[in-house]
Amino acid sequence: MMDSKELLRLLCNADGPSGYEEGVRSLMRELMEKFVDEIQTDKLGTLVGIKKGTQEQPRVMLAAHMDEIGFIVRYITKEGYLKFTPLGGWMDQLILGQRVVIKTREGDVLGVIGCKPPHIVPPAERTKLIERKDMFIDVGVKSEEEVAGLGIKIGDPIVPYGPFEEMAKGKAYMGKGLDDRVGCALLIKILEEVGSDHPNTIYAAATVQEEVGLRGAQTAAYLVKPDVAIALEVAIAGDVPGVNPEDAQAKLGGGPVICLYDVSLIPNIRLRDLFIDTAKELGISYQFEIMEGGATDAGRIHLYAEGVPSIVIGVPTRHIHSPIGIMSAEDFENTKKLLIAVLKKLDSQTVVSLKPL
Ligand SMILES: [Zn+2]
Repeated sequence: MMDSKELLRLLCNADGPSGYEEGVRSLMRELMEKFVDEIQTDKLGTLVGIKKGTQEQPRVMLAAHMDEIGFIVRYITKEGYLKFTPLGGWMDQLILGQRVVIKTREGDVLGVIGCKPPHIVPPAERTKLIERKDMFIDVGVKSEEEVAGLGIKIGDPIVPYGPFEEMAKGKAYMGKGLDDRVGCALLIKILEEVGSDHPNTIYAAATVQEEVGLRGAQTAAYLVKPDVAIALEVAIAGDVPGVNPEDAQAKLGGGPVICLYDVSLIPNIRLRDLFIDTAKELGISYQFEIMEGGATDAGRIHLYAEGVPSIVIGVPTRHIHSPIGIMSAEDFENTKKLLIAVLKKLDSQTVVSLKPL
């Protein structure tokens, strides 16, 4: 059986900012192949691994997005610095001073996000937030020509540099792109461990371009035509200084997070209750999330055709939408267990009963 930590390491260390998912997609294809009956793709790049169970119906869609937030090169200055445009929502203060990798056609180039040094900033300005427009990427050269010599072109995608590491004596992990490589790792582990004893067909979709507006989810739903859908995601771990628990109540180590509200989805309530009841049966502690900002693939999928009963299940993660996130090993295992147990219950009758009367 594949080790969860090593799987997460492979997935987090793979690169794939929105629209440029090739790197992570080829890895996902390789990982999926062993456990599915067939792989289908749509024309935007989503991969769907199809795993048959004891019944053909219902069609259960699991969706995790492969893309991570990144940047693209917008402009190259005469002095050899790169100006950049975000792919997805970054918290700008967290990118300053970070190492990044520019993915050129000729290979990877390392750079650092910089701004003017504090020593030459007037004292009154020093406490001011530095805006992204005043930042640049330094690749260690002195001219536009040298930048070209490194193979860097306008439009090249950029990702944070942040190798996956174990922390807290193995209890936690840090990595870039945990949003949503955690979901991708769950997809793979579920496919590996669920066996064939599930009364449905699983469509494990690794979607693209979620971070720029849930774009891949729309075409993926069309491909899958799901009867029910579960988005596998990160959830905000609010257990950091300065966060009021009423704004983000999930904690690292507190177990899988059932999202009850985000701006794109109100989950199917019977599906919500199925997750709650199953967690209780398994003795797994679970948490809730009510998110007044943000959206997930389920927001798009549930609006497919006449509607699809949908929900989002998350692994609590600290520092999402920053260069490095932190997650708990135990939360990952418990989220996986809960999802597998629910998948085994999703037979035709149960899925029909999700429909509002
Ligand atoms: Zn996400």
